[in-house]
Amino acid sequence: MQKTLLVVLDGLGDRSVPELNNQTPLEAASTPNFDYLAKEGIGGLLKPTFNGNYPTSVEGHWNLFGYPLSEVMGRGIFEALGVDFDLRKGDVALRGNWATWEQGKIVDRRAGRIKKTQALVEKLNGMTVQGVKVLIKSGVEHRFTLVLRGRKLSDEIVGNDPHQVNISPSKVEPKDEKDKRAVFTASVLNEFMDKAHQILKNCPFNQKRKQENKLPANYLLLRKAGQWGKKRFEDFSQKWGFDRCGFITGGGLYRGIALAVGMEEITVAGATGGKDTNLNHKFTQAVKSLQHDSLDFIFLHVKATDLFSHNGDCRGKKNYIEKIDRFAFDLKRLNDTMVIVTGDHATPCKKQQHSGDAIPFLVWSDQIQGNEVEKFGEEDCVSGEIIDQNQLINFVLSNHKK
Ligand code: ZN
Ligand code: ZN
Repeated sequence: MQKTLLVVLDGLGDRSVPELNNQTPLEAASTPNFDYLAKEGIGGLLKPTFNGNYPTSVEGHWNLFGYPLSEVMGRGIFEALGVDFDLRKGDVALRGNWATWEQGKIVDRRAGRIKKTQALVEKLNGMTVQGVKVLIKSGVEHRFTLVLRGRKLSDEIVGNDPHQVNISPSKVEPKDEKDKRAVFTASVLNEFMDKAHQILKNCPFNQKRKQENKLPANYLLLRKAGQWGKKRFEDFSQKWGFDRCGFITGGGLYRGIALAVGMEEITVAGATGGKDTNLNHKFTQAVKSLQHDSLDFIFLHVKATDLFSHNGDCRGKKNYIEKIDRFAFDLKRLNDTMVIVTGDHATPCKKQQHSGDAIPFLVWSDQIQGNEVEKFGEEDCVSGEIIDQNQLINFVLSNHKK
């Protein structure tokens, strides 16, 4: 079977901006390698599907991997897998922030953007509440992942994060008052959070922070619950008939999504989820793995494009796309390999937030019959194939060996 490389540039899609001569960052960027692949291969646009006001990265990747959104799990699951929680069927995972609660109000949702939180984790990890074990692991900066392990749990709950400050935090609530498991899970979490607050408010770690005029991390805000094993879906390789699927990411959420669908991790030195990631190592390793290892599918994720968009930095995004293109030099030398370059969703710099706009994509192999798209960009791709994002892998496989 022909091999496949899926390169996902997070938040790639964009809108034209006056600063870039009314072009998008991708159109304005000089990308000779991507342009070659688009010209010789097939270019087009992907239409995302999503549930809220705009697509999330989870939904975008779920679509790209070809799964229906009805099978997607709450984000907490992917976060938990991403930090190496060994999840068991029935576990409920949530995403959380260390926060500051003073005089009945949340005064900071990130506890002064606290960085080192291991001492706090150790105070709470492993506690048992109403027979349910509570496990916690630190995430990046003020974030953590919490896993509930026990019987009769549910992720049909709404977290307590008010998403604003100077109001009292809400309680975790069941989505449906008649759902016994959800009522139980909410009650476990609310009791745990009360206990956690009692432990945290007077612990030496926070007293020291107060002495240093820093905000104490004395409260937990939770959101995005997911339950492992609740949704049934096939492993990615089984679903699409690959032998071995690998992934290269900077860790965290994207690592969790790839692990959830059964991909194998290819570790790359210097790969981060930031602007400092080692693009050279990532692309070189992807090419090497496809040529020399028995992997026949690789998912390579680059996060930084989305970070520039959230900062509204269209020039930074354009320059970074140029940098990625330079490291994509070797892709056109891959024999017998379908190369896909696209994004998980659009993140227009003007909006500084995700949007439901269509996302440019290209598909190339040394055996493919190209279409009329000449260049890799939003405007250029309009004249190409327009397909649903969750049909991409299907589309690529149907073009194998043509
Ligand atoms: Zn994304
Ligand atoms: Zn984003």
